[in-house]
Amino acid sequence: MSFWQSNPIVAVNLILERSPHELQRAWSRQPVRVVCSDARLTHVLVTHGHHDHSDGAVPLARAHPAAALHKYPGARDRDQPVPWQPLGDGDVIVTAGDERLIVLHTPGHAPDHVAFLHEASGTMFTGDLVTLGSSVMIDISGGGDLRQYLASLERVRALAPARLLPAHGPIVTDPHVVLTAYLDHRRMREGQVIEALRAGRSDVPAIAESIYDDLDPALMPAFLTGKDQNDMLTGREREILQLLADGMSNADVAGRLFISQETVKSHVRHILAKLEADTRTHAVAIALREAIID
Ligand SMILES: [Zn+2]
Repeated sequence: MSFWQSNPIVAVNLILERSPHELQRAWSRQPVRVVCSDARLTHVLVTHGHHDHSDGAVPLARAHPAAALHKYPGARDRDQPVPWQPLGDGDVIVTAGDERLIVLHTPGHAPDHVAFLHEASGTMFTGDLVTLGSSVMIDISGGGDLRQYLASLERVRALAPARLLPAHGPIVTDPHVVLTAYLDHRRMREGQVIEALRAGRSDVPAIAESIYDDLDPALMPAFLTGKDQNDMLTGREREILQLLADGMSNADVAGRLFISQETVKSHVRHILAKLEADTRTHAVAIALREAIID
């Protein structure tokens, strides 16, 4: 498996002491193995604090206590209680021999988002800056900022990297083309929003409907911010979320509320969909963050 073709930067970015060829894919929450027995993990570089990028920090720190964990400071760093080494824009990290990575603060998708440039090869590890085949979520309630995102895309494009290694999806071998398409697409959407506002549409669902043809109503939650998502949960759903946060199982919740476990499951499914959460734990984390429950 060649390093540049393996796209190993999935949950956390691992830089091994020996060489980039020894990079091993790591995935959050799963046991972390370093493939080469003679390799030693010295640095863990995290692109941003979203769960699918930083949840591996705790097991990594436990498995490799000598490794330094680096991250640009963010509001939710306490979610991963490890001794973070703060990254700053322009920092140079020497990983092995004379292999250098330069830190680029690229906010927008998340306030603490960074990319890492390996100048010698023109390769950039870009976290969630771009994902081939789909657009990147700008979660306003989580500190996302479209203006910053566009500036970050332009900054990366101006550096003319040879290739991008996103955390999700295939390697980008034509960064200039892809970054330009992202910028054009976002600006087209911006223009459509301005048009919709001019046409008198003032709320988010009306604007979304005018922009996206045949929009599936099930997708509407994706357009709503944290507060709106909170408003979207029914009283019953909030009640169930609170019980889940208190550590109750489906059976406990069913017993407490005098409903069947099937009904609890159905409520939980709706809660996950509305909060765009993958798991119950994730839903509880979002609900606590957004102060939907306490
Ligand atoms: Zn992300």
